[in-house]
Amino acid sequence: MAYNITLIPGDGIGPEVIKAARIVLEASGVKINWEIVEAGEEVIQKFGTPLPNYVIDSIKKNKVALKGPITTPIGTGFRSVNVELRQTLDLYANVRPVKSYKGVPSRYSDIDLVIVRENTEDLYAGIEHKIGEDAAESIKIITRKASERIARFAFKLAKREERKKVTVVHKANIMKYTDGLFLECVRKVSQEYPEIVFEEMIVDAMSMKLVQVPNNYDVLVMPNLYGDILSDLAAGLVGGLGVVPGANIGDKEAIFEPVHGSAPKALEANTANPTAAILSGVMMLKYLGESKAADRVEKAVVKVLEEGKYLTRDLGGNNGTVEYAKAVIDAME
Ligand code: NAD
Repeated sequence: MAYNITLIPGDGIGPEVIKAARIVLEASGVKINWEIVEAGEEVIQKFGTPLPNYVIDSIKKNKVALKGPITTPIGTGFRSVNVELRQTLDLYANVRPVKSYKGVPSRYSDIDLVIVRENTEDLYAGIEHKIGEDAAESIKIITRKASERIARFAFKLAKREERKKVTVVHKANIMKYTDGLFLECVRKVSQEYPEIVFEEMIVDAMSMKLVQVPNNYDVLVMPNLYGDILSDLAAGLVGGLGVVPGANIGDKEAIFEPVHGSAPKALEANTANPTAAILSGVMMLKYLGESKAADRVEKAVVKVLEEGKYLTRDLGGNNGTVEYAKAVIDAME
């Protein structure tokens, strides 16, 4: 059997890391027919929009997509394609596993946590406007429905992965209605899972704790904005954005993509680390039920990182994106 999967190469370093992930996934033994669709900054001229309808149609048809990062202009220009995709398809859970790997230089060697970020509302709802020339307003939306379903998703994930603790991250001391509602919903859902330790943490204190004692944490569930920020912080604790994968999951469709962005000006050609994209592919294989193939790829990545012979520049090596991906393929058993 072959899977039909939508492939969105994205902008900047996207096409390179996605190509690397693609050849690795193809070597895993799982048969995939890729439907390649274009979205992002570079297709505006061709389609008149960064998110042409055929991209959404393809994901709705295939149910699963692997995606490269897409550039969003800062302060002006078009709305984030990433946010639009997540909202249009109601991909409400953004899952970002953050793990230490041997051979990856970092402050800690024993981090293994998952950030579960609510992906459809909060300040990312896009309800923002100017009030005259000198003021602006953005509205933070938190609903019981979205908060309860992300809480349930986090606890189910903790149970499935035999994790011990869920920590809700909030700022309900200041935003009593919005974060207060989020907190109330997670507290309520936590009661359905007495076997899992439940803990509450204010986002500023959480930032400090993550830097000081990240190995105290297991599953973290939080509203959209805090999840966006803390997942980059957590990435910095395990070697950087080059190694942290992600998934956007809804009830019908799922898009797998690295946590990092398109790094438009930061990196030369063939220097980006494709580990995050490859591990996003591993998450995709698990989602499809292809756990053996997922294991093969993950073990190969772990081996290559640990051996340290083929590392990209961000990890202190001098190998290219393509060489690293080939080393992962060679390391597969
Ligand atoms: P970024 O993640 O693109 O890059 C930040 C820094 O991290 C880079 O300068 C680079 O040093 C490093 N880095 C990131 N990925 C790497 C990799 N694979 N290998 C090696 N080093 C890597 O963040 P940014 O510069 O703030 O954002 C650039 C653009 O990406 C923006 O337009 C932003 O909106 C967009 N973005 C998109 C997504 C997405 O598509 N899901 C996510 C985040 C940012």
